[in-house]
Amino acid sequence: MRVDIVSIFPEYFAPLDLSLIGKARANGTLRLAVHDLRTWTHDVHRTVDDTPYGGGPGMVMRPEPWGEALDALAPAAPTPGGTTPEGAIPDGAIPDGGSASPRLLVPTPAGRRFTQAMAHELAAESHLLFACGRYEGIDQRVLDHAATRMRVTEVSLGDYVLFGGEVAVLVILEAVTRLLPGVLGNAGSLDEESHAHGLLEAPMYTKPATWRGHDVPEVLRSGDHGRIARWRRDEALLRTAVRRPDMLAALPPESLDKRDRAALDRGGFQPPTGHVAK
Ligand code: SAM
Repeated sequence: MRVDIVSIFPEYFAPLDLSLIGKARANGTLRLAVHDLRTWTHDVHRTVDDTPYGGGPGMVMRPEPWGEALDALAPAAPTPGGTTPEGAIPDGAIPDGGSASPRLLVPTPAGRRFTQAMAHELAAESHLLFACGRYEGIDQRVLDHAATRMRVTEVSLGDYVLFGGEVAVLVILEAVTRLLPGVLGNAGSLDEESHAHGLLEAPMYTKPATWRGHDVPEVLRSGDHGRIARWRRDEALLRTAVRRPDMLAALPPESLDKRDRAALDRGGFQPPTGHVAK
């Protein structure tokens, strides 16, 4: 996968040399380049912001450097026209992204909420281009213009406001990179972890068996793989019911069999209603 990041703080991305992302870069799974937006300024102060039209506090990122940056990193390719009222072609509206066009991701608290499902969606892309906003964000025309020639997704980490898009990009890249083939030593862990199938993961333990008076549950030391799998499933269901009732309610009823329902029932929780799998 190719990834380009444009920011006024390229130093923010130093951690991308570390750990498994660093390894993915070293072995070519991830071809990542960080670009300083100020490269595309032409005044002596390398200005990237100005006051907002209509007044109000703060500064807005000027369109010219962003326009040049996107021209350089995503050379124009013919794509179907048309924009939504928000100015962006909806995700997936260009069938193959114009094949040569990257998918432009713009972090903003006004964007689509980033989830594990979106991480999977992005991991299937061949080229991601991130535009990191600062101040009060990027002039809207940059996104509207980009949307005429590539897919644009405005993405939010959650319902809070950060100083800039850099941290959001680090989060998104961590979640996406670990889904790329060959990045995780044991790809099986992707299948069992939280959010993989609409549940939180069961609690995990390692040695020693007793620590400060707390024992590892007996079942996990039994060597009985069937019992262990059942225990983990029950714990995952109960944990999800307690901590994330919204996730439990969103489970397709047919994904829960009678034993799942019995576990929830024993815990005093109401499983989602509908067809019961055997
Ligand atoms: N004025 C903007 C608003 O109210 O929507 C907030 C701008 S914020 C101070 C500056 C930049 O931080 C944004 O352009 C975006 O890149 C980033 N940012 C802030 N909160 C974010 C969030 N929850 N998710 C993703 N990016 C965020």
